[in-house]
Amino acid sequence: LTSGLESAWNKLKGQKVLTKENIVEPMRDIRRALLEADVSLPVTRRFVQSVSEQAVGIGVIRGVEPDQQLVKIVSDELVKLMGGEVSELEFAKSGPTVILLAGLQGVGKTTVCAKLAVYLKKLGKSCMLVACDVYRPAAIDQLKILGKQVDIPVYSSGSDIKPSEIAKKGLQEAKKTMTDVVIVDTAGRLQIDKSMMDELKDIKKILNPTEILLVVDAMTGQEAAALVTTFNVEIGITGAILTKLDGDSRGGAALSVREVSGKPIKLVGRGERMEDLEPFYPDRMAGRILGMGDVLSFVEKAQEIMKQEDAEDLQKKIMSAKFDFNDFLKQTRAVAQMGSMSRVIGMIPGMSKVTPAQIREAEKNVKLMESMIEAMTPEEREKPELLAESPTRRKRIAQESGKTEQQVSQLVAQLFQMRVRMKKLMGSMDGGSIPALSN
Ligand code: GDP
Ligand code: MG
Repeated sequence: LTSGLESAWNKLKGQKVLTKENIVEPMRDIRRALLEADVSLPVTRRFVQSVSEQAVGIGVIRGVEPDQQLVKIVSDELVKLMGGEVSELEFAKSGPTVILLAGLQGVGKTTVCAKLAVYLKKLGKSCMLVACDVYRPAAIDQLKILGKQVDIPVYSSGSDIKPSEIAKKGLQEAKKTMTDVVIVDTAGRLQIDKSMMDELKDIKKILNPTEILLVVDAMTGQEAAALVTTFNVEIGITGAILTKLDGDSRGGAALSVREVSGKPIKLVGRGERMEDLEPFYPDRMAGRILGMGDVLSFVEKAQEIMKQEDAEDLQKKIMSAKFDFNDFLKQTRAVAQMGSMSRVIGMIPGMSKVTPAQIREAEKNVKLMESMIEAMTPEEREKPELLAESPTRRKRIAQESGKTEQQVSQLVAQLFQMRVRMKKLMGSMDGGSIPALSN
């Protein structure tokens, strides 16, 4: 997926703003990349349409390139597609919580049973596994072995008993032993068939599960959408678990689940170890799919710290020589905050010529400045002239902040130097002047 998207962004290099025309080509790349990642056609179509609409309307954000803007829109849309937030498991208000696992053969249901028990144990819940896959004797043994391995009790009975009957007895046992969560392993098939669905419906009727989780192999291709839809329509799932994410998966299944069922992916399995089960984070998955986490956090930070209004406000202040200690503090903090991201430097008005070394210096100085600016009265912050004129005020600030008078004088001088530099950068003829500090 990543390489296809790379070419999409590249096509926007040198553009000033996203338009209906210049996003046609990149959107075609994005569409192709999604289809190649096994995202289903209807899902892809809706995705591309939504991104296109947002991209055209977005306008210019100072200092953020159009390709970065598109990356951000695509990422946000991916996150939205996958449900936005982390979806926690639900627990029953009273009595044992029942989690029913469903899915095709070989997707990892039995493994997930044991992993889930380990996961829930860490949350302080006691668990019991129930073996309802009676078709292969090996399946019951597999669950027993895993149960032993992770020290979780397994309820099972002979393979001549109906799965729904086993489920019922298992739940009774769990109630008797005051177990918090019952995890039910079921039989899969290579393909969806009626006997599997009927069996799951029977078990569901008897257990009334809090969670019915569809286990999906992340390697599932285009057919993931149809698979999820069928299970959801037939038995009504409450969510999904995506397994084998440690493999060479192209991510398509992850993108389809929510869109076709309205149900979230709740957990992901990313390995064969019993600890390899974790919550599903849509934003991390989007980052993985896009392979550009850095660019995203960069754009986000930039938007957050230098909102357009702020930038314009700052510009006006600079033009009218009203740049004061409040702005100084804001700006210095912004620089320190963004310091590690050298690409950001060009975005701060008047700061485009600052070098990384200066940024590091600013980071170091921010604490020093903060303490001195905090010792100023609101009036002094707004009118730095007061400090230029009055040694008494500077002395007071030095005492209150525990700095030397020289350091305070330096800070005041620095602010006026900044005003001058900025006015020059803004193209003003009148560079202003730096007042000599009176003694
Ligand atoms: P079931 O038929 O759905 O019960 O699937 P199993 O639990 O028996 O798992 C089938 C195979 O997939 C086993 O060899 C598991 O070790 C393997 N497996 C399950 N989950 C994962 C995972 O997250 N990552 C990897 N690499 N393998 C897994
Ligand atoms: Mg199994």
